Amino acid sequence: METKIQSVAIDGPAGVGKSTAAKLLAQKLGWAILETGAIYRAITVNFITKNLPLENEDVLAKAVQNLPVQVVYKNQKQHLFVEGVDLTPYLRTPIVDQNVALVAKVPAVREAVRAVQRQIATSQNIVVEGRDIGTVVLPESQNKFFLTASPQVRAQRRFKELVAKGGEVPNFSALLADIQKRDEMDKTRAVSPLLPAQDAIIINTDHLEIESVVHKMALKILRKDQDLNK
Ligand code: C5P
Repeated sequence: METKIQSVAIDGPAGVGKSTAAKLLAQKLGWAILETGAIYRAITVNFITKNLPLENEDVLAKAVQNLPVQVVYKNQKQHLFVEGVDLTPYLRTPIVDQNVALVAKVPAVREAVRAVQRQIATSQNIVVEGRDIGTVVLPESQNKFFLTASPQVRAQRRFKELVAKGGEVPNFSALLADIQKRDEMDKTRAVSPLLPAQDAIIINTDHLEIESVVHKMALKILRKDQDLNK
């Protein structure tokens, strides 16, 4: 009997808790996980190291043609290789935070990343998190969630995360401004803007602990499975 490959699509804006929720949910279900923002981030690092003009869409469209991008799992952690180089340590640096949305709005980049994502997501049961997973990458997914939270709450969460990591205390207003700027670019871009799919379940996480978010999602998925088996 053919077993159907299943997926969960989790979308939402920056700092909403998608990545933590996706990890916990994947653990609960025993499925793989794919954090798609990392792919855009790795391509951004590659372009920055080549000194490409990130405002020039034509140059970026050319640069992404045949660019070898690989997602490799080592000790259950996702690593991003571009042209054979592991760029994982550089993905979450401020320069990448500030420039990734410029790269992610180029249609040719999105098309290349979509191909990488689909190849991974259609070969195993998986939880995929990003911005356009339910709408563009896995529109066939039976389990779509869209997480939301106010920009203030998201900036507070990022602030706490950075403080917990140690190092310099971040500037709250700068964090908030960065989040708002990135949201604006992600929501208003012409190709696959940040939007809930029509059949996505929207969860506002302003007043929810991440465990409750995961619990809600797991319940919905398991109930659906039961309904299907009736
Ligand atoms: O999720 P993360 O913050 O790592 O995403 C970084 C950036 O990558 C987002 O701000 C967005 O510009 C882009 N992105 C996207 N589509 C996705 C995932 C990320 O456009 N599916």
